[in-house]
Amino acid sequence: MTDSLPEYDWPQLQPGWVWLCGAGPGDPGLLTLHALNALRQADVVIYDALVQEGILDWAPQAEHVYAGKRGGKPSAKQRDISLKLVDLAQAGKKVLRLKGGDPFVFGRGGEEAQTLIQHDVPVRIIPGISAGIGGLAYAGIPVTHRDVNQSVTFVTGHDQTGDAPSSLDWDGIARGSQVIVIYMGMKHIARISADLIKAGRGQDEPVAVVANATTDDQQVLETTLGNVVSDLQGSELEPPAIICVGRSVQMRQVLDWQGQLNGIAPRNLDPLGRGKPAENG
Ligand code: SAH
Repeated sequence: MTDSLPEYDWPQLQPGWVWLCGAGPGDPGLLTLHALNALRQADVVIYDALVQEGILDWAPQAEHVYAGKRGGKPSAKQRDISLKLVDLAQAGKKVLRLKGGDPFVFGRGGEEAQTLIQHDVPVRIIPGISAGIGGLAYAGIPVTHRDVNQSVTFVTGHDQTGDAPSSLDWDGIARGSQVIVIYMGMKHIARISADLIKAGRGQDEPVAVVANATTDDQQVLETTLGNVVSDLQGSELEPPAIICVGRSVQMRQVLDWQGQLNGIAPRNLDPLGRGKPAENG
């Protein structure tokens, strides 16, 4: 079963267990080996909307159950998903719960794991590459760069009710974090960009919107805080998308490696103006 996996003491998915696993942002190649090991063993895979269906082909023996829900709303439904996992485990299935990106990053993985443990169902957590890091990397944007930021803030663009999150201290974030990575931000981008500008961020600050990151449909919009709303309206970009605010976006001018694969030359070899590497040591 684990034939084509490298030599390693791979854990066995036992009946009655749930493995809560990140599927990465899209590209199936970004799965972890633990995720692949899980796919090979599961009786049932419960997957979210953001999991690329091609990944499920790697679990042909398993039943595939879609548990998608998009948008902010139904927390009751979330409870149903958690309880379904409990039922399957208690029925003696080997359960793989597969979630987009990393299960513990804006993915309610913590809630699901908690419910399972409260019901005495044993769990294993398998982290995944989160869209806010790996998705930006596929757009040629390093989430940290030593000339830009010593910290990065990951925020969600909406709260449990689907509204723009009112509990977020946008002033604090705007002042404290050179780079801001926004998940689920498309719906409320007008409000979010206005709040950031009000809190002192520049109209001309670079912004990138990366839609369907790491998939064949990846699209990237480079814009500014002042123009992001109108530029998005004039574009075809749709969620899921990651929005990155900060100067690291400029690094895409040199690091758009996917564009380079398609023969597009770098626009600027030194977008942050740090000079040749040799001069900087
Ligand atoms: N657990 C996931 C995030 C789930 S929240 C993770 O770690 O990546 C859902 C949000 O994630 C989307 O609204 C979007 O902002 C982001 N997202 C997930 N997959 C994405 C993708 N392929 N491209 C762009 N954004 C993505």
